Amino acid sequence: MLTFNKKGIYCKQAKVYIDPWVPVNKAIITHAHADHARSGHQHYLCHKDTEALLRLRLGKDIKTEALQYNEPIHINGVRISLHPAGHIIGSAQVRLEYKGEIWVVSGDYKLQNDNLSTPFEPLRCHHFITESTFGLPIYHFPDPALIKTQTLDWIANNQKQKINSLLVGYSLGKAQRIIQQLQEVDMPIFAHGAITTIQNQLIHLGKPLVPVTYASVENIQSIGSPYLVIMPPSAVGTPWLKKFMPYETAFYSGWMQLRGARRRRNVNRGFILSDHADWNQLNNAIKISQAENIYVTHGYKSIYAKWLREEYQLNAVEVDTLYDDQLLNEEANGDTLQ
Ligand SMILES: [Zn+2]
Ligand SMILES: [Zn+2]
Repeated sequence: MLTFNKKGIYCKQAKVYIDPWVPVNKAIITHAHADHARSGHQHYLCHKDTEALLRLRLGKDIKTEALQYNEPIHINGVRISLHPAGHIIGSAQVRLEYKGEIWVVSGDYKLQNDNLSTPFEPLRCHHFITESTFGLPIYHFPDPALIKTQTLDWIANNQKQKINSLLVGYSLGKAQRIIQQLQEVDMPIFAHGAITTIQNQLIHLGKPLVPVTYASVENIQSIGSPYLVIMPPSAVGTPWLKKFMPYETAFYSGWMQLRGARRRRNVNRGFILSDHADWNQLNNAIKISQAENIYVTHGYKSIYAKWLREEYQLNAVEVDTLYDDQLLNEEANGDTLQ
């Protein structure tokens, strides 16, 4: 039912694309990260929360239709529904059913509950399209509770030395998780503009998030150090940081499991925190889908597809997409709101 062409993942019966990378008539969008939600489509179909984020990112005048999770629509005999992917707020797996054949496009996903996005919903299907951002056995992500403890220790240590703590993570998804860890910290929390904009929008949507203050010079001076600043990766190494001196930086990413990642990022600390599935989560998702046909996108796709063929005897193939994953691409635009 689905095919992969130059524009994206296509459903011929319903004439819709899923996360297309060039402008199309009708696009179903799994989530609001820039590599999946591109501008220029005539119509957008997505989850309600993603709709609000798309308007923020792509403009108020885009034509959208929003669904809740598990609320089906029918297009030319194809039953289409969105289901939680657990990746970021509003992220969805797209389930398509036509004459008894079921396909699931999982988008980006994780099985770990982040207490922010709706937890991943296991779906049974015949064809499962998966990511493989962390599709190597070395990736095993620790319990987020441990990361929180380490974060609070790090901040306390900085505070003792009267040093400001700068916490770095992508503005949509990661930043909210970082801020959520800081609920008990009795220190002012400032944030980069890209993050305050998203945080305000999500609070406006009714999400129980901690408010943050824009990190302007006046705001900082009026409160005084030591304080916390949440910022996107694109801000690291820029003159914007000068006003926060003295400071220490910490970067939150699944890549922090790799030796050398912290050094390459030019930060003092690395904390392993990811919005993607690690090796075990990927394998669990594949198993519970009971799908026999697996299509592997972003990441270690050829290695992971080979593993699925050899280990589980699945019909697994790698698929080339233009999901220029912000986690793979160090300078990606996914973390900013232009
Ligand atoms: Zn994503
Ligand atoms: Zn992605």
